[in-house]
Amino acid sequence: MLAESLVRLGADPAIFDPDPDAPARRRYAAGASSAYEDRVALKEFLDGCDLVTYEFENVPAQAIRAARSKTKILPSLDVLETCQHRGREKRAIRAAGVPTVEFVEVEGVAALPAALRAFGTPAIVKTARGGYDGKGQRRYDDAREVAPDDFPPGVPLVIEEVITIERELSVIVARADGRAVCLPLFENQHRAHILDVTLCPARAPIALAKKAQTWAKKIAAALDVTGLLTVELFVGRGRGGRGLYVNELAPRPHNSGHVSRVACDLSQFDLHAHALLGLPLRAPRLVRPGVAVMANLLGDRWPTRSAERRAFGAVVAQAGVEELYLYGKRDARPGRKMGHVSGFARDHVRAIAWADRVRRRAGLSGPRPPR
Ligand code: ADP
Ligand code: MG
Repeated sequence: MLAESLVRLGADPAIFDPDPDAPARRRYAAGASSAYEDRVALKEFLDGCDLVTYEFENVPAQAIRAARSKTKILPSLDVLETCQHRGREKRAIRAAGVPTVEFVEVEGVAALPAALRAFGTPAIVKTARGGYDGKGQRRYDDAREVAPDDFPPGVPLVIEEVITIERELSVIVARADGRAVCLPLFENQHRAHILDVTLCPARAPIALAKKAQTWAKKIAAALDVTGLLTVELFVGRGRGGRGLYVNELAPRPHNSGHVSRVACDLSQFDLHAHALLGLPLRAPRLVRPGVAVMANLLGDRWPTRSAERRAFGAVVAQAGVEELYLYGKRDARPGRKMGHVSGFARDHVRAIAWADRVRRRAGLSGPRPPR
């Protein structure tokens, strides 16, 4: 999707992915596939580009540094490394003057029981690195619940207070040359720890949306981001009272931002392309009244080849569908994001019902709790 926005602005994307069968890799002739650790191949690819960005947060920053290419990487590897470590990320958010949930960093599971007793329960413990879609997280209501094999030994952890969440929100900011613009505030509903639907605009007072956008710009400026930064937030009650807290950052296009492809006149991918190519940034506008909704399509129920056309035909035939986007991933697996469907409704309640109906009628599914 980013490559498409870049192509429209005259750029020639080249894709690096260790998997030669990765969707974007298959669609563009230019690119390379090798292990990240293959310094020679990685350097050759990087050197051949005018500019490099990444769409996957767990790209090994060390391997890219080790390749020693002079090509500019945006957002910078410093930004990437900050966002790859939940502890460092939370410290950076606080250093920018923006509140996070209460947290404490722990060097490994051996130190966890004592750290949990000092911090207090209930608490959520997350691996500092590598988690996504709720993976690498556990909740403890008592420090005595910790078992030595709950986390791999020696893996750094972050303990967080449990927030009573009222809403989950995200703000995407694009920044270049010291200027920053934000997409409208998105509201995110998760199921089984995976993003299920995103609504735009969020159900939030204007003052709260403004605050979230101001914070996003502050964090982006503090990290000196060029390109996109996604800021995930909670509205809820924590030890610091009821309010808005930043949860985590992603220095890249974000799943919630897919809704901007129908909701706004510039999508997250367009904004990122503008920032990367040095084109002026302007704030995106909502294209119409009502509520835009994006619903994820997961691999839990995915049509076999022969049935494919009918299931996807059943999606596009339904009223209100603005976009069906299939990523072209070869293998469907439970919980794997295979595509999304977006549309409009009159209000938020109808938008959520619409998202469920469209998927159910087509025999496709969003996230499903494990049985
Ligand atoms: P990731 O998205 O990388 O898996 P998150 O930190 O965003 O990790 O956590 C995933 C989800 O778990 C959040 O969207 C939220 O629903 C829930 N969650 C995470 N941290 C907390 C917390 N401190 N209190 C309550 N719920 C949380
Ligand atoms: Mg998250």
